[in-house]
Amino acid sequence: MDKSPGRFDDVAVVKGIGEKKRLRLQSIGINTVGQLLDHFPYRYKDMRTVKRSRDTGGQIDELVCGRLIRVYSRSLYGKKSVTECVLEDESGRFNAVFFNMPYLKQNLKTGTEYCVFGRMKLRNKVPTWTNPEIFECGGDKDARGLIPVYHCTSGLTNNDFNKWIKAVLDKGAAEYDWIDKSILDEAKICSSEYAYRNIHFPESSIHYKYAKYRLIFDRLLIYQLALRMNRQRINEAIEDASIEDVDVGPFLQGLPFELTACQKDCLADIENDLVSKRMMNRLVQGDVGCGKTVMAEAAIYKCVKAGHQAAMMAPTEILARQHYAHACEDLGKHGIRCRLLISGMKASERKKLLKDIIEGNVDVVIGTHAIIQDDVEFRDIALVITDEQHRFGVNQRKSLVGKGRGVNVCVMSATPIPRTLAATVFGDMDFSIIKSKPANRLEIITRAVHQNGRKRAYASAADELAKGHQVYVVAPSIANEDEDMASAETLYEEIRGMFPDYKVALLHGRLDKNVKENIMQDFAAGKIDVLVATVVIEVGIDVPNATIMIIENADRFGLAQMHQLRGRVGRSELQSYCYIVTYGDTGKSEARAKALVNISDGFEISEEDYRLRGPGDIMGTMQSGNYTSSIISLCSYTEILERAIKYADRIMQDPLNTDLDYVRSYYATEVEDNSTII
Ligand code: ADP
Ligand code: MG
Repeated sequence: MDKSPGRFDDVAVVKGIGEKKRLRLQSIGINTVGQLLDHFPYRYKDMRTVKRSRDTGGQIDELVCGRLIRVYSRSLYGKKSVTECVLEDESGRFNAVFFNMPYLKQNLKTGTEYCVFGRMKLRNKVPTWTNPEIFECGGDKDARGLIPVYHCTSGLTNNDFNKWIKAVLDKGAAEYDWIDKSILDEAKICSSEYAYRNIHFPESSIHYKYAKYRLIFDRLLIYQLALRMNRQRINEAIEDASIEDVDVGPFLQGLPFELTACQKDCLADIENDLVSKRMMNRLVQGDVGCGKTVMAEAAIYKCVKAGHQAAMMAPTEILARQHYAHACEDLGKHGIRCRLLISGMKASERKKLLKDIIEGNVDVVIGTHAIIQDDVEFRDIALVITDEQHRFGVNQRKSLVGKGRGVNVCVMSATPIPRTLAATVFGDMDFSIIKSKPANRLEIITRAVHQNGRKRAYASAADELAKGHQVYVVAPSIANEDEDMASAETLYEEIRGMFPDYKVALLHGRLDKNVKENIMQDFAAGKIDVLVATVVIEVGIDVPNATIMIIENADRFGLAQMHQLRGRVGRSELQSYCYIVTYGDTGKSEARAKALVNISDGFEISEEDYRLRGPGDIMGTMQSGNYTSSIISLCSYTEILERAIKYADRIMQDPLNTDLDYVRSYYATEVEDNSTII
């Protein structure tokens, strides 16, 4: 490592990282020098000030310094031992006690000054540190200040990270700044060098603050730039993705209902996209039950009638089957050939289907995300619909594109992303928002009850069962991990006892896939009356006859998640109910339950969710695996986000010396394959 290592260099260039350590680093996603620098400490040990031993006793780790007077070891039962040290500073004597470190006795020298760091507890009125850190004052290991603590894994120590990161910083790895200096000066944002140095080894809390600001700004700016560059690229793409305009009237006339006004607007957007040469990249957002599927079907109708093929992808097999059933009904009657592609198919069946697809004997393929991407070749695919997958990447797009033609992509999502965020996070997509639900729907009546009031919820369930309707009960976990929590298994037993005349079933993620499928299908077919489940039912299934949802142990769910769950009922003209059962007695769980009772709009709920939960552990967020979700969390720093947007627009007009290749390389190494970026 003679010259300064670059951000995208392999970590192996760092002195001390041999093959073994390199593999360990790889296993936690650190391949490059830049990724090593981005492995931020999750906390710091505050070793800035030495305290007098008599003045310690806060609920935190504290640093004291004293002369070693006496050290002795004794063995306890078995192989265990204890080493006791008596030290003294100007305020008096204190003890440091170590378990099972007999070698310490040889290493510690009486008469020498030692630093002791840890949490103090009084023992027989003497300040005592148990298993603290200990090192010689002024010795090699004496590093005062804010000491970084990193997430480690077996084979990698805190010391490793400390040493390596210091080494690359000293070699100038963070010196290169991709943002033009005049922009940094104007925005009063610190340099990359300053930011990395102070996020790892902060000189003071003020330094740390500036560093953190820059790093958040950095990520958001890169993201905003990437969205803009990506959009520019898509717009410049020469491929013509237009399809011939076909009247969608016959399809609409075949539906048993009228489209809502919002659905009509959304369809108009989709129709415009399809005739345009530009590739469609549209996000159709709408709360659960608003009727997105029929939008997808209309698009497919147009595409197939214009002579092309289409694909529809769902996150689970259950959902794929459901979409398939609807498509056969709504599209099949217009002569459109729909086929289902799932993982459990017989090899021969599957082979035949793939052949039919490539030969053009199939118009629409419906399956799960993975399956459709893996090995399907189309004769002429012009449209891909994905359900509940927020990003559909260029690579995925490529895997589906035949020769020469651009594929139109329409993403459907019920995940409520706060409006303000959606426009920035999905800045490279067009939006259609379906705000209203079909007119025949009654508002779901939501009630919050405490554990003691559970009876009310189940009495209401009994009423619904008597009317021939079906019931969902959702628990946060499968089995009982902790005593006062309702688990799916215990609830299942309880509910079977409660409703001996009805068929009750238990559904959870650990069941065999086929078993799960069968249970879901039986529930959809009305053969099961009460479904006790974990969140596996969260996305998807459309059972209009289910009219009551009881969410047990609501404290364990996120607000947005409960809203999604609630969306499983209220899917017909029948009056539906949702009971939220809280077990804890904190004000917080009450506030959450209230929010659900009072708010029925998914978007508002997601804003409330952010408000109640806060931005969370920011550094943890920045290095967490899923890129899009970490960007979403960073967006809660609205002030920084707004500045990033402003500067991204400026840089796109005139980058000065800002390095846009850096943005490209950053994405190439950091962002998982399925992002739409660059
Ligand atoms: P989601 O947006 O959650 O995917 P779906 O597309 O599954 O919602 O629609 C929920 C139900 O509403 C379906 O049974 C669908 O047939 C029905 N539906 C859709 N649009 C309308 C409409 N305009 N009027 C009445 N019912 C509708
Ligand atoms: Mg849907």
